[in-house]
Amino acid sequence: MGESNQPPDAWETPQRILIILAHPDDPEFFCGATLAKWASQGHHLSYGLLTCGDKGTKDRSLSSSDLCSIRQQEQRAAASIIGVEKVNFLNYEDGYLIPDLKLRRDVTRMIRMERPDVLVTCDPQYFITPSDRLNHPDHRAAGQVVLDAVFPAARDHLNFIELWRDESLEPHIVREVWVSLTDRPNVILDVTPYWETKIRSLLEHKSQIGEPDKFFERMKNAHTQDSTTEQPRYEEKFRRLILG
Ligand SMILES: [Zn+2]
Repeated sequence: MGESNQPPDAWETPQRILIILAHPDDPEFFCGATLAKWASQGHHLSYGLLTCGDKGTKDRSLSSSDLCSIRQQEQRAAASIIGVEKVNFLNYEDGYLIPDLKLRRDVTRMIRMERPDVLVTCDPQYFITPSDRLNHPDHRAAGQVVLDAVFPAARDHLNFIELWRDESLEPHIVREVWVSLTDRPNVILDVTPYWETKIRSLLEHKSQIGEPDKFFERMKNAHTQDSTTEQPRYEEKFRRLILG
């Protein structure tokens, strides 16, 4: 079988995969079925969440710090259903994420500590969805700061020299970046066997999904247009970049 027949995630050895996104629930919403597949194949997954989602409520009795701890718990429960080994929070303030140099240094530190083969983030250029909804500004900021940290900051020791000099964090080359939540995919994975796991993990985000039965139905109905409710097929899409 030729190289081109191999799916793009047919890695021969267990990969270290780091997922860096803005909010608790982003990993599961954007690509949870793919992550569940990778975990079940023996790859080592860890999450880096830039915020704890401390503004994502309409409940006026909840403070941001209450919501922060609720959402961290929900994220840990969802991650354990996916099979993620480690969840880290940077606890930047939800809604106000800016891809500045302080955040870039923190993300660079995370990359140099985790030393992933494969890194998953989202598309900083995705403003408007196909159904004319607005993408959250934190998602765009997260995508931008993560890509800027991958290249060149994590790779070159003179970038944030204090990480190397004072914290002994060696430079690191990320081999592949998988950009989720994009309208310019170059990889489309059939993730049907893992859709159930994705839904189960999302159901852990109780503060976010509304009425669980309705949410479950909506997710079941998110099958491809060329499939049916009786025999549904589900996909997740990425822009895959090979850097190393
Ligand atoms: Zn989000």
